[in-house]
Amino acid sequence: MATANIINGKEIASDIEKVIKRKVYEIKSEKNIVPGLAVILVGEDPASMVYVKNKGKKCQESGMNSWEHRFPADVPENVILDKINSLNNDDSVDGILVQLPFPKSSKLSERKIINHINPNKDVDGLHISNFGKLVAGDDGLFPATPTGCLILLKKNIQNLEGLKALVVGRSNLVGKPIAHMLLKENCTVSIAHSKTTNIAEECIKSDIIIAAVGIPKFIKGTWLNSESVVIDVGINRIQDNTSSKPILVGDVNFEEAIKHVRAITPVPGGVGPMTIACLLLNTLKAAKIRRGIYETSIESF
Ligand code: NAP
Repeated sequence: MATANIINGKEIASDIEKVIKRKVYEIKSEKNIVPGLAVILVGEDPASMVYVKNKGKKCQESGMNSWEHRFPADVPENVILDKINSLNNDDSVDGILVQLPFPKSSKLSERKIINHINPNKDVDGLHISNFGKLVAGDDGLFPATPTGCLILLKKNIQNLEGLKALVVGRSNLVGKPIAHMLLKENCTVSIAHSKTTNIAEECIKSDIIIAAVGIPKFIKGTWLNSESVVIDVGINRIQDNTSSKPILVGDVNFEEAIKHVRAITPVPGGVGPMTIACLLLNTLKAAKIRRGIYETSIESF
């Protein structure tokens, strides 16, 4: 039985980061622009704090500015809205990212806060106007994780046109945006969710599978066919059976899947590293859009 090509997201993300670093250097030296990302963090969730720290570190490594604005879990909504107002009006800030989810105890409205961001600075691509542009097939700022999935796919499949793609999961953050991105690539797209009754049948007839479910090893090897390319978005922390230590696994049973499919992303080292790379890409894009000098597209990656 053939073994699948393992798509190395870490390597591809690192290549993208090198290109971004060069482009940041160019825009700095030619136009005296230093792209900058401001991140708002509410509460002290350890995972969110690590994500925010990593985003700041990667920004600095690429030559961009980064700022972190921390608030307690019980911060009143108007304080966050005021902070967003000042970041919207701050010319040195190109991207504004509100780290989600908010703490469970918080009464903040995600929708209201995200829609308060200037859409041209919405580097997470979650503002309703960017969401609308994605659905309409226009250019805009789109979520980083789905953008990363698309780049990984394009590294493996030259022409996505006419292929059958199944997106498992329909969140606003991953499932819905990647489904629309694939539609724009002329794939025939199906979306499965918790009420779908025949996921195994849908999987086996698909050329492309995007797994964004949040259930460890949900997609089994026998659901997959030998031509399929599988992008596993899931990040699930479980306990390893043998060592009893915590490990990260995806939404696809990787050990089974590699015996069945053409290509697959691992977890960790697949989609995860692409998310930060694409966030940097969006920050650079936002810096250019705002000044009317944007010409790069993800095609160049
Ligand atoms: P989410 O908001 O919880 O959405 C999960 C989706 O999966 C929902 O649409 C849900 O359907 C669907 N689902 C749940 N149970 C199902 C089942 N039994 N069969 C079919 N579909 C089912 O999660 P998310 O934010 O999209 O994230 C998904 C996964 O990706 C998580 O593991 C998350 O940690 C990971 N993630 C990774 C990155 C990265 O950088 N790599 C970024 C974001 C997320 P309903 O809509 O019907 O409830």
